Amino acid sequence: MSDQNENKNGHEEIGLYEKLASRTADLLEEGKKTFDEALKKAKEELSSAGDFSREQADRLGEYVRRDLKENAGKATEAVKKAIEPHRLAAGAQSAFSRILTSTAETLTELAERSEKSLEYKTGEITSSGTLTCKNCEAEMHMTKTTRIPPCPKCHKTVFRKSY
Ligand SMILES: [Zn+2]
Repeated sequence: MSDQNENKNGHEEIGLYEKLASRTADLLEEGKKTFDEALKKAKEELSSAGDFSREQADRLGEYVRRDLKENAGKATEAVKKAIEPHRLAAGAQSAFSRILTSTAETLTELAERSEKSLEYKTGEITSSGTLTCKNCEAEMHMTKTTRIPPCPKCHKTVFRKSY
């Protein structure tokens, strides 16, 4: 039974992560100046609407922040995506490109602040991309937002990410 509950919560949180990323993008397009301002407002709105608890909002907000900054860190690719957001797949990736085109912060600023947060762990939620196990270098390719499983090869739980 507890497995079922975990799955249910996992699916809910993936949906909430995408809702939070997308609402943050809306708020930037509506005139919020910085990513942090927009994310804070999106968290407040969604938790007061009862979509999630403040604790969930904070945790999922950190996942969104990390993924956005990781995207910004891939400067060339991110700029291309930011210029042509309509070419992107739906979901969180398009929310990130909307954020990158709307924020007053430059990609360089976002990327500089991202350097120390590039570790991904089993159980966390992240957008599509490739995770590489820091222990055995096995790769996992994710095509959509997902909760990170243990390494399929060595069962360790720490990864780095690329797109
Ligand atoms: Zn491994």
